[in-house]
Amino acid sequence: SARRFTNKRVFVSGGSQGIGEAISLAFAREGARVAINGRKKDKLDDLLPRLPKVTAGPHIECVGDVSDEQSVIDAIDKAFQEFGGLDVLICNAGIQIQSPSESISLADFGKVLSVNVTGVMLCVREVLRHWVKDGTKGSIVINSSVHQIIPKPGFLGYSASKGAIGNMVRTWALEYASRNIRVNAVSPGAIVTPMNDAWVKDPEKYKAISEHIPMRRPGESSEIAEPTLFLASDQASYITGQTLFIDGGMTLYADFEKNRT
Ligand code: NAD
Repeated sequence: SARRFTNKRVFVSGGSQGIGEAISLAFAREGARVAINGRKKDKLDDLLPRLPKVTAGPHIECVGDVSDEQSVIDAIDKAFQEFGGLDVLICNAGIQIQSPSESISLADFGKVLSVNVTGVMLCVREVLRHWVKDGTKGSIVINSSVHQIIPKPGFLGYSASKGAIGNMVRTWALEYASRNIRVNAVSPGAIVTPMNDAWVKDPEKYKAISEHIPMRRPGESSEIAEPTLFLASDQASYITGQTLFIDGGMTLYADFEKNRT
């Protein structure tokens, strides 16, 4: 496809593996300079040389933990300084911790919220701070989940966090619409990534998961990356405050596929 991001500068949180890696690769292919964020430098070191170099300037690493305020301030500052600005923010970093709700620890509940909610808030705040000052008409895409609307028993923090993202996106979208800053979300269904090793690497679980998806298969990271780039691009210039569900039909009340009278 045509290069939609020539001369654009993009920050991708949690960009070193899974969906974030696919998003980083896709932006680089389309001409963007990419700042990849993650907690582990060695994983960023592994991805950096694999990012296609279409633009003159190099891609960069912004090591940092999105749940740590100073770490986010430093990572985003580095991107603004080295790139001279940013045009797109992708908040992709996210975690889940499984536990029955009657015995969930405060630490585990808090940890998921601190990455999935506070971490997104901090990245968005730091980017908005610059954009409001310099008048950039930027675009933000948050990686939410079908669990923004489908309950996820045994993953209370994850459910809470993705539910929160839906309203945060709508709140930011309204607050910054008049400045031409757009904020949207993608909500993946079941995607083949390291987060899902538990069923991806187990043929029986893989089959069970596939059977309850209307399209009868999980998605690939690239199938999330492409719609993410669309929402970030000028092709979506009049879209803000929306969540795009990318789930092979998972949010369509799959059980109603069988004819009911
Ligand atoms: P993943 O575990 O493969 O990747 C997550 C990335 O986030 C990793 O690079 C990880 O290092 C990074 N990360 C985690 N905590 C971080 C922190 N504190 N600071 C910085 N980076 C951190 O997972 P994935 O499947 O690629 O998930 C990416 C996003 O997509 C998450 O927000 C997840 O909730 C969402 N999602 C995934 C699926 C799926 O089926 N895989 C479905 C719906 C939503």
